[in-house]
Amino acid sequence: MLEKKKFYINGKWVSPSKANDFEVINPSNEEAFATISLGSKEDIDAAVNAAKNAFETWKETSIKERLSLLEKLLTVYKKRFDEMANAISMEMGAPMDWSTNVQTATGQSHIEDFILRLKEFNFEKQFDPKSNNQIRYEPIGVCGLITPWNWPINQIALKVVPAFATGCTMILKPSEIAPISGVIFAEMIDEAGFPKGVFNLVNGSGDVVGNQISGHPDIDMVSFTGSTRAGKLILKNAAETIKRVCLELGGKGGNIVFADSYPNAVRDGIRNVMSNSGQSCDAPTRMLVEKSIYERAIKEAADEANNIKVDLASKKGEHIGPVVSKVQYDKIINLIKSGIDEGATLAAGGPDLPDNLEKGYFIKPTIFANVTNDMEIAKKEIFGPVLSIIPFESEEEAVKITNETEYGLGNYLQTEDKEKAQRVAKKLRSGTVYINGNGTDSGTPFGGYRQSGNGREGGVWGLEEFLEVKTITGWK
Ligand code: NAD
Repeated sequence: MLEKKKFYINGKWVSPSKANDFEVINPSNEEAFATISLGSKEDIDAAVNAAKNAFETWKETSIKERLSLLEKLLTVYKKRFDEMANAISMEMGAPMDWSTNVQTATGQSHIEDFILRLKEFNFEKQFDPKSNNQIRYEPIGVCGLITPWNWPINQIALKVVPAFATGCTMILKPSEIAPISGVIFAEMIDEAGFPKGVFNLVNGSGDVVGNQISGHPDIDMVSFTGSTRAGKLILKNAAETIKRVCLELGGKGGNIVFADSYPNAVRDGIRNVMSNSGQSCDAPTRMLVEKSIYERAIKEAADEANNIKVDLASKKGEHIGPVVSKVQYDKIINLIKSGIDEGATLAAGGPDLPDNLEKGYFIKPTIFANVTNDMEIAKKEIFGPVLSIIPFESEEEAVKITNETEYGLGNYLQTEDKEKAQRVAKKLRSGTVYINGNGTDSGTPFGGYRQSGNGREGGVWGLEEFLEVKTITGWK
């Protein structure tokens, strides 16, 4: 059994103020493989104190000094890459190839991209050539970073690296469900040699440690990625201290498949949702299909879903793994049952375990057809390998249905008509619109409209989240 029970505070690995062991479960076999500690108020106070003291000197470091440390971190990350991939696979069930080539690789690409952005970022500039006013970007201060389990190192890197780059100090609380990648990342930071107190890690539950972070008077900003439910609690708790709150929350993306889409559009849409076992915030879980190709699309979708293998995360190859936990498993199965009860047509999958598996939190790729946008399965973020197909007749109707959700993170559309694609993309109310399966480039902003959040991560926008903007008059 792996033991990672210490916290990283003020440059040292320390025992929690009160022992409170917590087992980390491997979702492929439902067995504990590691133990961490859950922290308390005293641990957060110690970490905040360390971060507050470290801020005084860290905020004065030069870009060159910070770049040099980030480059060291990148070197250590590459050295321990396989260990990170193994940890992610064990803690959240990502199959080894996916964990290595996608989950762990994104962590590396964020470090690389923020190094590039930091080299180009202008922290100080004259307001206008004729002006005597100077504009300065200054680090916001001590940051509380709270992350989820579904893309663990992706989310951690999107927060920790820009916080370092901008001169902030921080306390990271990774998800207690998948905390090992966060502990390994802290070990890497230690090895890279960042000054003591700049980065601190305290594991713990959301309602204790997370709550302490959002309410702490000496934390200047909270950057949170997770559910809309927790985002609301954090926003309320942070209100008392008027700290900046950057929220990256849930989604219920639409994927509009027009009749003139490229031939594989439906199949690609299914693969996209099912990857990561459906546990991606911007997964297009509502597929809107134009009536004239609707019957064909259902057949293709069911066939594609039936061809996706479900198997142990430890195995190599192209398959999907389990969902992360018993809690998530039960929630997803109940939503699948609610779809059946509400009268949607089950075209593939369903609530039973896949035939090749006897235990583990495995769910068959599930497709519902004849879904209406007011059904629970169309409204709720299911966060599992479940997709709903909804028919539409006109472009206007497709846009209306897609936008009829409380979320607004990622929407997708498929058509070979470029003008239509651009017209529709502009009308969709979400932080990202993906046309014809094209991916986002490194350094583009990521975030949501409406209840999908209020922040933007990645690239220059990701740096700006951690900065205050100051105007100084009479500069010259
Ligand atoms: P979650 O909200 O349950 O937990 C996320 C983190 O918040 C964990 O570290 C948890 O301990 C903590 N937390 C929980 N309650 C808290 C509270 N009251 N105060 C402070 N912290 C609290 O979410 P999850 O199940 O870990 O992750 C899945 C969710 O994350 C999905 O809704 C998904 O869409 C969302 N997500 C969003 C993005 C994005 O960029 N928008 C990216 C990945 C995941």
